[in-house]
Amino acid sequence: MTRRRHAVVIGGSLAGLATAAALARHMDAVTVVDRDTFPGRPGRRRGLPQGQHLHALMVSGRRALEDLLPGLTDDLVKAGAVEVGAPRDNLWLSAAGWCTRFPATHVVPSASRDLLDWVLRRRVAALVGVRLRQGYDVVELLADRPDEVVGVRMRSHDGRVEECRADLVVDASGRSTKTPTWLRELGYETPRRSVVDSRAGYSSRFYRIPTGFDGDWRCISIGNQPPRTTRGGALIQVEGDRWIVSLFGYLGDHPPTDEDGFLTFAASLRHPVLHDTIARAMPAGPVHGFRSMASQRWHFEELPKWPERFVVVGDAACTLNPVYAQGMSVAAVSATALDRWLSVRDGEPGGCAVFQRELGGLIDWAWGVAVGADSAVLALAEDSAATAVADDVGFGERMLQAAMVDPVVNAAFFDVMMMVASPESLASEEISRRIGQGPPLPGV
Ligand SMILES: Cc1cc2nc3c(=O)[nH]c(=O)nc-3n(C[C@H](O)[C@H](O)[C@H](O)COP(=O)(O)OP(=O)(O)OC[C@H]3O[C@@H](n4cnc5c(N)ncnc54)[C@H](O)[C@@H]3O)c2cc1C
Repeated sequence: MTRRRHAVVIGGSLAGLATAAALARHMDAVTVVDRDTFPGRPGRRRGLPQGQHLHALMVSGRRALEDLLPGLTDDLVKAGAVEVGAPRDNLWLSAAGWCTRFPATHVVPSASRDLLDWVLRRRVAALVGVRLRQGYDVVELLADRPDEVVGVRMRSHDGRVEECRADLVVDASGRSTKTPTWLRELGYETPRRSVVDSRAGYSSRFYRIPTGFDGDWRCISIGNQPPRTTRGGALIQVEGDRWIVSLFGYLGDHPPTDEDGFLTFAASLRHPVLHDTIARAMPAGPVHGFRSMASQRWHFEELPKWPERFVVVGDAACTLNPVYAQGMSVAAVSATALDRWLSVRDGEPGGCAVFQRELGGLIDWAWGVAVGADSAVLALAEDSAATAVADDVGFGERMLQAAMVDPVVNAAFFDVMMMVASPESLASEEISRRIGQGPPLPGV
């Protein structure tokens, strides 16, 4: 009789659920352990405080989730998610001005994070072999010898301790991962940690869309414009005829969480449209703040030794400043990478170290975009005059100007924003030529 193969996933948020969907294709049993109790319908839970803030899924994330769970986009739309097409449905004031509303080249379902997780959780829980264990805190990795993880020790809320043996353990426990400590306890080196903190903060609120609202858009994004303003905000339609609005500010210039302060901050953005829209709408809940937005990365891929049967994914490996809306998509794409890896390299000695290095490469790309943008904000804060002049003639600004008005550059730019093409794709001959031409000259 062949032995049943079992995987344990620590954390049942987006990374954990997407990973469980990938593992269910290769394992006889998958146990997802979360310290939270999941709500029976879309709703808040303690382990997902970011659920009260705007969560945009990129096209790469949608495709990856759809690959793991075919029909998921339809399920989301049936549950109330709204399809939003970029750039058509978005009033986007970038640092280089308004984006022309060309026909949609990139369509994503827009939903509250609570709805997205609920739909995903139902799909994953229905997969053969998958079991969700709620209300259990994973407190330790089990290892019979230091070079191989064989399960986890977990503690229930009422203090019961259980051991759960597994052929593969995946840490998807988010930003507060204990993996560096657990590795140290097993005798491994502490990995290098990179942190880039542009001291950004969010405040967010849901609003009811007024009856009879006839705007021909579904999203507003007002960007910051360093060094002139550190402030920005976004509004997007979600299920239940609501908008979710997230305001943000860099360098400690955080939007307030009181009613008046929230509206006053919205009024201070580079254009009044977002403020005027919400000032006429009925709030559908309180204002929530979120301040720990630094990008943080554990360089697990650099460790000279790595245990067998153990990998780390999602925010536990790399947390990205949410302003760039990458985290869920990186987590979903990582799960498809794990699926591919299990198809070809499962069981190879040293295989988990190879996967962790592959994942490091995948993270590099998103990390480069988020940290590049945050480093520019920080550099401008330190030396605003000199850097601003240098940047004026820089490639980044010219590219953004072209993307606002040229449909070909615009589509290529959205490919990068939606994480379906690498930033290097913008250096192609055709795109470089169009960017080099500059925006059309003004007429009389
Ligand atoms: C304000 C904000 C806005 C964001 N907006 C976007 C956006 O627009 N687009 C986007 O793509 N991403 C966005 N993100 C990022 C996104 O929320 C995360 O990348 C995404 O949730 C994936 O994270 P994760 O599953 O790795 O970890 P998390 O979502 O943090 O989940 C970790 C899970 O592990 C559980 N857990 C933790 N420790 C243990 C333990 N020891 N034992 C058992 N369970 C444990 C927790 O209860 C939780 O359920 C945003 C983040 C923030 C903070």
